[in-house]
Amino acid sequence: MYIVQIASECAPVIKAGGLGDVIYGLSRELEIRGHTVEIILPMYDCMRYDQIWGLHDAYRDLWVPWYGGAVHCSVFCGWVHGRLCFFIQPHSADNFFNRGIYYGALDDHMRFSFFSKAAIEFLQVTNKRPDVIHCHDWQTGLVPVLLYEINKWHGMANQRVCYTIHNFRHQGIVGPEILWATGLNRDEYYYNVERLADDNHYGALNMMKGGIVYANYVNTVSPHHAWEARFSDVGCGLQKTLDRHHLKFGGILNGIDYDVWNPEIDRFIPVHFNADSFELKSKNKMVLRERLMLRHVDKPIVCYVGRLDQQKGVHLVHHAIYYSLALGAQFVLLGSATEGGTHRWFWHEKQYLNQNPDVHLELGFNEELSHLIYAGADIIVVPSNYEPCGLTQMISLRYGTVPVVRGVGGLLNTVFDIDYDQSHPEGERNGYVFYQTDRYALESALSRALNLYKQNPSAFQQLAKQGMAYDYSWNHPGAKYVGVYDYIRHR
Ligand code: ADP
Repeated sequence: MYIVQIASECAPVIKAGGLGDVIYGLSRELEIRGHTVEIILPMYDCMRYDQIWGLHDAYRDLWVPWYGGAVHCSVFCGWVHGRLCFFIQPHSADNFFNRGIYYGALDDHMRFSFFSKAAIEFLQVTNKRPDVIHCHDWQTGLVPVLLYEINKWHGMANQRVCYTIHNFRHQGIVGPEILWATGLNRDEYYYNVERLADDNHYGALNMMKGGIVYANYVNTVSPHHAWEARFSDVGCGLQKTLDRHHLKFGGILNGIDYDVWNPEIDRFIPVHFNADSFELKSKNKMVLRERLMLRHVDKPIVCYVGRLDQQKGVHLVHHAIYYSLALGAQFVLLGSATEGGTHRWFWHEKQYLNQNPDVHLELGFNEELSHLIYAGADIIVVPSNYEPCGLTQMISLRYGTVPVVRGVGGLLNTVFDIDYDQSHPEGERNGYVFYQTDRYALESALSRALNLYKQNPSAFQQLAKQGMAYDYSWNHPGAKYVGVYDYIRHR
């Protein structure tokens, strides 16, 4: 099959979050399975040009219809760690992608409407006719709308669209200007709850809703999150739309890249190990202690790796630090706050705990340190408020670090409580799950984990090894996406 991904990120050249990892990891897996994949991206000024090999101009004069006229664009092409990527660079006074940021401009809706229009126009004029166009999140929600309302009539009637939602929180709530700009026009036609009209904001259009209504298949990134989005407020107002289109809506778990996240070959950890040489994990624990100046004592290390924000249940992360210390464990945190207040809060805690030899808070983004923490810690806490998929629990399982998670979204599909899970036999359970958002819920799960560690070390080790046996690589998700592509192609 010939698949084109249209997205606003692709790791490592453009990465703001998990989306970038998914675009790269899925594309790689599809190619391993024998499919042809191309990726269309915006050409941001701030992307990592050092991660592109052989960048050259592929199409000099792409004229993208925009309002009454057209914007002149160049399309560049290069390989990002083996994946063929096309970068669209508009030449207009708007300077859409020369802002020094990926997201966060006031006119983001125009920037990504333009990108969607340009990407589909590029396919049109270069005679690229993929079997499947796979687009992602609100930024590319207009792609299937444009395809089925405009380009279908110009030789693109056989293309099918898979639309993946990674985060329902951001939907692209906009005014009619996106219709006038992209040539969709006909306000009265699109201002219809069956099409793009937003269900909750009078007079607004919803780009993500457009993606859902027009795509041939829609998915989010875990089966449980798909259920939550349809039946709870996690859908952020799109519940009715998802319900109306439930026959083409599902959930497919993300994978993690086992070439990067593998304790047998990881270049960032000092001692390699696997389930058969599990005792070597403790050497990484010693190195972690030395690196973060924790004292060497016979205590478990509890960790947190991730963004520090409301989505991640930051108040419970904070509580987990003090609760772990109270139960005689050590705590390591690696996190970057997404807003100033949270950053100052944790900065204050860091100063306050500075002299404590059992805790270290590292504020910022540090890829290399994250590997050592996954390898050296015993337990990770992931108390998210909502979590479409979540990668940190899957990475931890791979490194024999037992996850203590809140039972939401993808966390519920990947972590199975050793004491209470009903769906898996005891020998296949791999962590601890709690459900409420209050501190008592976290305490009940975390204390069970710490008690097992102290009172029955061999059972705890067995639990960690059971987690290592899970395969959360791109293998299964890759097969599922190929199944979806086949299904929409032949429908
Ligand atoms: P998100 O909602 O942020 O995408 P995920 O759990 O899906 O959360 O993915 C988080 C990824 O980012 C993981 O690979 C994790 O190791 C990494 N990560 C998050 N915060 C940090 C940090 N401060 N330093 C290093 N890596 C981080």
